[in-house]
Amino acid sequence: MWQARQILSLGCRWRIGSGDNIRVMHDSWLCGSDNRWVTSPQPAGVYRLSVRDLLHKNYKAWNIVKVRNLFSKDVAEKILETPLVSSVREDKVVWEEERNECYSVKSRYKLAMRYIIGSDKYHVRMSPDSFSIVGKASECTLYCPVCDEGVEDELHIFFRCAVARDSWSAAGLSSVLHNATYQQTNVMDRIFAVCSNESSDTVGRVAMLLWCIWHNRNDKLWNDNVQMSRQIGRHAFDAWNDWYSVHKLQGNNVSGTTEADLVRWEKPALSWVKCNVDVAFVSGSGRTSVGLCFRDNSGRFMAGMTQWQQTVISSVEGEA
Ligand SMILES: [Zn+2]
Repeated sequence: MWQARQILSLGCRWRIGSGDNIRVMHDSWLCGSDNRWVTSPQPAGVYRLSVRDLLHKNYKAWNIVKVRNLFSKDVAEKILETPLVSSVREDKVVWEEERNECYSVKSRYKLAMRYIIGSDKYHVRMSPDSFSIVGKASECTLYCPVCDEGVEDELHIFFRCAVARDSWSAAGLSSVLHNATYQQTNVMDRIFAVCSNESSDTVGRVAMLLWCIWHNRNDKLWNDNVQMSRQIGRHAFDAWNDWYSVHKLQGNNVSGTTEADLVRWEKPALSWVKCNVDVAFVSGSGRTSVGLCFRDNSGRFMAGMTQWQQTVISSVEGEA
């Protein structure tokens, strides 16, 4: 299969019309390089995508935010260098001799890059002056995929985006959102402040809401599914109530479990790194899964990992 694909790809590639018939991971369609296949490992959802899913809905242009979010840096750049010709309506296989068009686009791109940054990407001059110019030229602004207005950073996604703000009120948490104590400009500081001042019930609701906002953002970006802020807030509210009622029931069976007994996460001491581990297995699945999270002494996320193994071991052995 692979050999057949590669032999075919020597002679031709797809030229993008609507992009409907070209499958992102299964067809040869990239331009401007020897390898016209998308090769990097991708999240499972990408295998079903057609090239159309990487374009804007109403006009023929790459959805840069989506492409950069889905693919590794070099693959994303290859995709964005692939030309889209608005007069080409239908997806069409083109042969070797028609490929010159790609090279001219690529060389024009290189020429433009040289003009903008006084160098091309293969020859970055390292003198302090030109280095700072390169930094500015290659800095790119990512707009929020949910509202298409704000510049997307953590603060925007969770607190400032119009959709996020409405979700907070739909979840009955506007008083937390607007509380003067929680207006830190750093998201992590805000969340720590909420965790140390609010009851565990409110903290649980906030955590559930943040997860729902994040989930909605990814669903919009990858699948173009849009939820109303009312639904997001309502979903967070219901999900918390379900979780809480189950855990309250379990808690009632264990005598003496009170608020004071709950263990709260604490930052590690200076020059220490804290690693939290959790291991679980689902009976009958034969799988043991593990999650690790490393944080530094200011509580900043450093690295994380999730993995599963086919072997069945007890959760005590797994954690060890
Ligand atoms: Zn937004």
